[in-house]
Amino acid sequence: MQIGKKVHALKIPFYVTSPSGLTMERFVYIYLIYGSCEICLIDAGVVSAEEVIFDYLRRTGRRISEITLIIQTHSHPDHIGATRAIKGETGCAVAVHSSEKAWIEDVELQARERPVPGFHSMVGGRVAVDRVLENGDVVDLGCGLKIQVFHTPGHSKGSLSLLLLGYMTLFSGDAIPVAGEMPIYEDASASVLSLKKLRDIKGINHLLSSWDEPKKEVEVYRHIDAGLDYLQRIHEAVIEFAGGNPAPEPTALCRSVLGKLGLPQEAANPLVEKSLLSHLKMKDHLRIV
Ligand SMILES: [Zn+2]
Repeated sequence: MQIGKKVHALKIPFYVTSPSGLTMERFVYIYLIYGSCEICLIDAGVVSAEEVIFDYLRRTGRRISEITLIIQTHSHPDHIGATRAIKGETGCAVAVHSSEKAWIEDVELQARERPVPGFHSMVGGRVAVDRVLENGDVVDLGCGLKIQVFHTPGHSKGSLSLLLLGYMTLFSGDAIPVAGEMPIYEDASASVLSLKKLRDIKGINHLLSSWDEPKKEVEVYRHIDAGLDYLQRIHEAVIEFAGGNPAPEPTALCRSVLGKLGLPQEAANPLVEKSLLSHLKMKDHLRIV
């Protein structure tokens, strides 16, 4: 799917099987920026996504060898799974925030420190990082295309959002929580600050996230505000069920909060628990946005 003059979106479907044997259908969006002489990927999707990407390039009249750069919004398995194969095929460079580098270069470290169901079925192996990005960096994609880097932590320590200058297309990775989806972030207060940072960018034409449909113009800002409202609702539920206890039992808290939010309580897992517990840092504040 083409979005604007330079950007193409590819929806990569995949399946995750939980330890209880439950198979869930998921997807991740990855994006291709078509310069006149080079192609940049924003994330790479799960293992084998390279076949979908290469097929799309051929069908749109481009060559696989034109891929010169993959910018990773962060290091989670559904974003880096095909990076090794694409780099191996094209020799492209891989860029990521400094806080995510170790989990891409040593995927077993990530599997130990952040075990998620089906990790090894999503990731094609370790990849050497060629360029480390920081907030405010501008990446020159050649042919007059430039990307500005925004450090937007919260979902993960080194989550990046990337603005294609001139076209005002913002790639937000997993930085913006989607109302009605499972809360997955490491640090709720960092998420709030990151969303405010994105909301302050004026004139965004397209918002392209990894786990939601593309948004345009006024919808962009509504979507960011909806993410902030969702964090506020989650916060209020956490404070209500923690009941002043600074160290509540995580699974019980998680089930109660999920119930209040209308989400399935059986979906409680350590990642969701971690997201909710991160709100306790702000337990003395009822409003966080
Ligand atoms: Zn993620």
